[in-house]
Amino acid sequence: MVIAIASGKGGTGKTTVAVNLALSLADVQFIDADVEEPNANLFLKVDLQKLEDVAIPIPQVNANCSFCGRCAEFCQYNAIVVIPNKVIVFPELCHGCGGCKLVCPNNAIAEQPHIIGYIEYGKTDTIEFYHGVLQPGKPSATPIIRQLKRKIDPTRTVIIDVAPGIGCTVIESLRGVDFCLLVTEPTPFGLYDLDLTVNVIKQLHIPCGVVINRSTIGDDRVQRYCEAHNIPVLLEIPYDDRIAQLYSQGIPFVSQFDGWRDKFRSLFDKINEAAHHNKW
Ligand code: SF4
Ligand code: SF4
Repeated sequence: MVIAIASGKGGTGKTTVAVNLALSLADVQFIDADVEEPNANLFLKVDLQKLEDVAIPIPQVNANCSFCGRCAEFCQYNAIVVIPNKVIVFPELCHGCGGCKLVCPNNAIAEQPHIIGYIEYGKTDTIEFYHGVLQPGKPSATPIIRQLKRKIDPTRTVIIDVAPGIGCTVIESLRGVDFCLLVTEPTPFGLYDLDLTVNVIKQLHIPCGVVINRSTIGDDRVQRYCEAHNIPVLLEIPYDDRIAQLYSQGIPFVSQFDGWRDKFRSLFDKINEAAHHNKW
């Protein structure tokens, strides 16, 4: 069972839910796919070691080049430029799509790997942890997500902490998961972003459920939205100053408050049940 934990915007408590759920279960793979800001391990505190680099293929032009300019015309990212008798590649702009190589009429483009980030790995008695790190200034995190997802063992319980928003890296993280848990808060912003994310999830035909974090603030519009769209609300976490304080110290609240591990185990049972009712 591969469970993605997502939210339409940052700061809703997505990583809090992912981490506390992982710590409540007996044996999980945890993939932190928020590669521009991987912070789950601030809470899980797994000893990490570098596992591998992530590289993309960038073009390298050889002597067959006739300076026809087709590669530069093709590239949407201005990562390759043709000037008289010279072709210049800008690795920092290149997404490694391979398109310039395909359109080159003279077979003048080879490819060489360009490192954009890396994957770290660590293990505790109950959690096998992976996260990806995108190097600053690199244009695309999607290849790191793809490489991270190759670590998934679908026969186990897998939790993917997805980046906030609905961009390319989020779509890549969600592709092929069994269930998406959407974390929101009962505010107009929370509802707006929840609706955006639900529309993406529908397009991907992924069953989903909602966790309402800080549920005692705001109003009941998120509940009414979920009822109207037939989306189960699987857990509500009330606002509590102590949870916020623990968060600021990097301490998951299931380790401090009685009863919350049971609530997260019950959340996992509800996810299992809801995953079999794909209604999109
Ligand atoms: S498309 Fe090929 S031949 Fe034309 S400028 Fe680019 S590398 Fe050179
Ligand atoms: S590989 Fe793609 S992004 Fe990179 S220079 Fe070629 S066309 Fe542009």
